[in-house]
Amino acid sequence: MAHFSDFALHKTIQQAIHDMGFEEPSPIQEQCIPKILEGGDLIGQAQTGTGKTAAFGLPLIEKMTNRNVVQAIVLTPTRELAIQVSGELRKIAKYKRVHTLPIYGGQSIGHQIRALKQGVHVVIGTPGRVLDHLRRKTLKLDQVNMLVLDEADEMLDMGFQEDIESIIKETAAERQTLLFSATMPQEILRLSRKYMSNPETVTITRKEVTAPNIEQVYYKVFERSKLESLCRILDSEEIGLGIVFCRTKRGVDELTEALQERGYMASGLHGDLSQAQRDKVMQSFRDSTIELLIATDVAARGIDVGNVSHVVNYDIPQDPESYVHRIGRTGRAGRHGIAMTLVTPREMKQLRTIEKVSKTTLQSRTVPSFEEVMERQQSIWKEQLIALMEGEADVTPYADVIKQLQAEYPAEKIAVAALSLAFSSSVSSAEEEAYDFGDTGASKGMVRFFLNLGRTADIQPGELNKEIAELVGASTKAIGRIDVFENFTFLEVSQEIAPFVYEALRHSRLRGKRVNIEPAKPRTKRNK
Ligand code: AMP
Repeated sequence: MAHFSDFALHKTIQQAIHDMGFEEPSPIQEQCIPKILEGGDLIGQAQTGTGKTAAFGLPLIEKMTNRNVVQAIVLTPTRELAIQVSGELRKIAKYKRVHTLPIYGGQSIGHQIRALKQGVHVVIGTPGRVLDHLRRKTLKLDQVNMLVLDEADEMLDMGFQEDIESIIKETAAERQTLLFSATMPQEILRLSRKYMSNPETVTITRKEVTAPNIEQVYYKVFERSKLESLCRILDSEEIGLGIVFCRTKRGVDELTEALQERGYMASGLHGDLSQAQRDKVMQSFRDSTIELLIATDVAARGIDVGNVSHVVNYDIPQDPESYVHRIGRTGRAGRHGIAMTLVTPREMKQLRTIEKVSKTTLQSRTVPSFEEVMERQQSIWKEQLIALMEGEADVTPYADVIKQLQAEYPAEKIAVAALSLAFSSSVSSAEEEAYDFGDTGASKGMVRFFLNLGRTADIQPGELNKEIAELVGASTKAIGRIDVFENFTFLEVSQEIAPFVYEALRHSRLRGKRVNIEPAKPRTKRNK
């Protein structure tokens, strides 16, 4: 097993890695970091969720000097990714004087020009806007000795090929070039032959893994309401002992705290705890004083507790092996176990990879609604109350209070107040932020979308229906009318799955073409 300390990274960077809460390098990082540090060109086949950003980001920041010129450029397909990569690089550079700047279309160019003038070492940008700056001469790349093409296949799909080539030509010839891409179509290979010198290719060679025979499900969730979704899932399950996995130590701390605040019996476990602390947490897990153990992969590795009923992947695992490892913590010794994975739209691809490599299919489930959770809670309260009323417990002190109150208040009012006192902490009240697509001219209960691909892109209603159902893990019945035109398509889906269809399609391709999806505009009423 590799450690971050094995890499020739300066202690300021090691400290930043520690602060970010990473415990050990992910497989793609393990292979890429030493190679990039050595200096050769590299092609990495990896998608979001594998840790690819830090795989190039750590050696990139390591190599930056304090010369006040742009020394590295990262090209990304979208502004979201540019911002995300920039954020990650900034965290890596926390203790080093390296200035990073994202530049993308849609933001005021004047603002970017001012920021560039102040001195920037690493530029992260979308090809169009970078080229714009080059033409205005507000950005110079002649001192760039490191070029990263991130999500290269997406960039080509979006038609950025020429822009990319024009940008590459502005960089120093003796630069180091890194290319990351989830897929390796011909155009990518052509691009690499043209602009890279003897690149090494890194793919994660996957060991055969087979998932244990336990129930495996996934929930579609959104990043911004992930915690709320988790709580609803937990509230609607009969959990004996559960292990909840997070990607980082920091993630473990944050989630543990959030769950404790909401009244769950949860404790965190990760590599920064002392042995004594760890033993204490494990002991309380074993004797069920806590019901949820929140852990990183590393911390959970040695755990051997027989009766874990639930494994929850709050963050999707970085590779299939880790998935198999995690879920193997439940369903031991012939007991029933269930593994639940939370998946955001951008992580759907990673889920499909996990399924393929571990040769399993995860059943899709929808996050229970507030009402469903409430209904379940109510039946639990009823059971508890009945058990108390029929049991032998000494209730004299409470009975006295009731007697006193009964003189002034009706019995029902007293009972309601007593219940809310007892159970209010177990009701999670935060309502999910709902997506509002406005009036899209759809039939009742549906949302209508406009898609930029039509017959010329070989879109056919029947196939599209199946593809979308598969992509978002929904029943084909949730997908309504599909009208395919020459160059575009109108698509209706049920309100429940609409946000997910929207998010998932926004980040995907159909027939090799990038999808642009928008809520449709209501049809104009022509006869009035
Ligand atoms: P990426 O695949 O680069 O989009 O990264 C996905 C997420 O994993 C990001 O939130 C990273 O901060 C996180 N991450 C990257 N490397 C590691 C690591 N070695 N351990 C834990 N989390 C990581």
